[in-house]
Amino acid sequence: MPGFELFGDKERKQVQDVLDSGVLMRYGFDGMRNGHWKAKELEAALSAKMKSKHVHLLSSGTAALTVALASAGVGAGDEVIMPTFTFVASFESILALGAIPVLVDIDDTLTLDPSAVEKAITSKTKVVMPVHMCGSMANLEALQQICDQQDLLLLEDACQAIGGSYKGKPLGSIGDLGCFSFDYVKTITCGEGGAVITNNETYYQNAHKYSDHGHDHIGNDRGAEEHPFLGYNFRISELNAAVGLAQLNRLDEFIALQKKNYTILREALSQVPEITFRTVPDEGEENYSFLSFFLPSEAIAQKAHKALGENGVDACFYWYNNNWHYYRKWEHLTQKKALGKLPQEVINGLPDYSKTDFSASDHWLGRTISCLIKLSWTETEVQERAKKMVEILKKTR
Ligand SMILES: *Cc1c(COP(=O)(O)O)cnc(C)c1O
Repeated sequence: MPGFELFGDKERKQVQDVLDSGVLMRYGFDGMRNGHWKAKELEAALSAKMKSKHVHLLSSGTAALTVALASAGVGAGDEVIMPTFTFVASFESILALGAIPVLVDIDDTLTLDPSAVEKAITSKTKVVMPVHMCGSMANLEALQQICDQQDLLLLEDACQAIGGSYKGKPLGSIGDLGCFSFDYVKTITCGEGGAVITNNETYYQNAHKYSDHGHDHIGNDRGAEEHPFLGYNFRISELNAAVGLAQLNRLDEFIALQKKNYTILREALSQVPEITFRTVPDEGEENYSFLSFFLPSEAIAQKAHKALGENGVDACFYWYNNNWHYYRKWEHLTQKKALGKLPQEVINGLPDYSKTDFSASDHWLGRTISCLIKLSWTETEVQERAKKMVEILKKTR
């Protein structure tokens, strides 16, 4: 997955442009910039790549999620449906607005189960947020139908899935809003950064204002800008955007490399009769950043994960026990441990997660191992890794 593995002259050249002008800020300073508008350029390039009318860059993927929700008017007491398997940023962005994260089971796609989503909808639900974990997606058609019928927003967290697609459309561009992260370990990186994409003019207008203190960005005089509503600072800097520009130009190259390495591993593991693979919905195309597969039981998956590590097969993850990515270890959320006092809506609205039944999620994730696909592996290294994995997985009972 990580774009940092292939980092070089193209990135350096883009950053040098910014250093030469000395303008590190994305807005204003027109006379000093030598024509360099890296954030604007990256927004235009992403808009073309994602076939999405509007793109707004932010300081991180977490900021992108927060701004996306805020731009659609999500606020105190609104419920946002999110999966049990994701990154903590999902509920952080929801809670930041005083809204309520409602955790919902995953299925064999390893993200939102549409039938579980339907059951979780209440009169307070505003948004359904599928998270395309490890580069693949939920049954987005089913989720879209539910959202259309119930008048809910579909917000895709595509932070780990840039370059993937569903029914011919780029992941992130299918819902009302989509979010990307360019943090240091993502498929393309700019150090820290993120983006919101949407075809909705109002959400876009709200997003760029909200992420810059509510400034309306009308006219050339920053001091004279109006503030139609309260905002915050979630801006990206020109330095980060410059790196992102170089990396976006290499996205197709990165995805092709990932696909090649993924395919070698997958074909090898297909020889192990006990293994099945994560379900990718019809007409879905992963970005091949991870290869995720199911073992016959939780006990076997745990043994297999341990054996892989002990035999030098690195970068394989057992998410079930991971405290960043799975609900079982999120005590800070379930015990409502905030630094200050949480809004009353959140205190009253948060479900009692000690009583929630997530056995369906446990069933799938307890048996899952995901292997990170690296860009820098040579073909020999992938072949050797594949051989080793097959040997280990065939032996594990
Ligand atoms: C990385 C990530 C985020 C947050 O992105 P940051 O840029 O690190 O803030 C959100 N959701 C998912 C699924 C992620 O993997």
